[in-house]
Amino acid sequence: MFDALSEKLQATLSDVRQRGTLTEDDVNAAMREIRLALLEADVNFKVVKSFTASVKERCLGADVVGALNPGQQVVKIVDEELTALMGGSSAGLAFAPRPPTVILMAGLQGSGKTTATAKLARFLKENNDSSVAVAACDVYRPAAVDQLVKVGGQVGATVYEKGTDENPVDIARWALDQAKQDGKDVLIVDTAGRLHVDESLMEELKEIRKAVKPTSILLVVDAMTGQDAVNVAEQFGEAVNFDGVIMSKLDGDARGGAALSVKAVTGKPILFASTGEKLDQFERFHPDRMAQRILG
Ligand code: GDP
Repeated sequence: MFDALSEKLQATLSDVRQRGTLTEDDVNAAMREIRLALLEADVNFKVVKSFTASVKERCLGADVVGALNPGQQVVKIVDEELTALMGGSSAGLAFAPRPPTVILMAGLQGSGKTTATAKLARFLKENNDSSVAVAACDVYRPAAVDQLVKVGGQVGATVYEKGTDENPVDIARWALDQAKQDGKDVLIVDTAGRLHVDESLMEELKEIRKAVKPTSILLVVDAMTGQDAVNVAEQFGEAVNFDGVIMSKLDGDARGGAALSVKAVTGKPILFASTGEKLDQFERFHPDRMAQRILG
């Protein structure tokens, strides 16, 4: 992940670091390199433009030009701006004042939503000691209910399901009642995806939202689809105001454009990263650590 971007940024910054003093031309040349590296990493072009503009402004305004050892300052500025680009200090998941906390999972078919539902259940059990139930409301995709029963069982979550014949809104409402009765701390509701963002998908999500009044709506997007993932997140955001992103399949995304663009484009932070098919390959997303990883 981020390999090419990392290599190019490190090369540019190492050049900058080696210079005794920096002129405005040097800064401009470095910004050109950074701009190209980000564009090649499939970062949204508007995001690239504003990113390099703020790095440049800070470099020129921070007595970097003409200073002794200015390279370190440039590296620090790029590090801070990359961190800010991905959301700044890592955002946390909201919990309801009175349980159960209800998390509604949204996303396109194939984005990794059902997998992420089980992974999040496991994460909350392990890290928060929560008792977690998951609700199978994806009644359209063949085998989605069976899949959730399987992976939910593997992580020790209670799975509320009613097969594929009932209405997903009724299932969600019933699952919430069950979660309350069973004294669960968290209920994660897996919903249907489609191949594209469409009206009926959004309507159903809105109805489920009305029925269960979720504490958070999390959108699962597939990092491997690059800027398409960002566009999908933007379209979802226009229709249903989600709270945060789970970036899936980061392990298969060599470039990193979606992870670097989605917060700037949608205003919503990445809360979790899914980094493989195994159920424990799931972690909190920390923008500062990610920036450091990129800069080496
Ligand atoms: P859904 O249709 O959105 O519910 O998607 P699924 O959860 O069924 O996932 C679709 C495919 O992506 C499955 O084969 C998953 O094993 C795979 N998958 C999900 N998350 C990840 C991930 O983080 N990394 C990789 N490599 N594969 C993933």
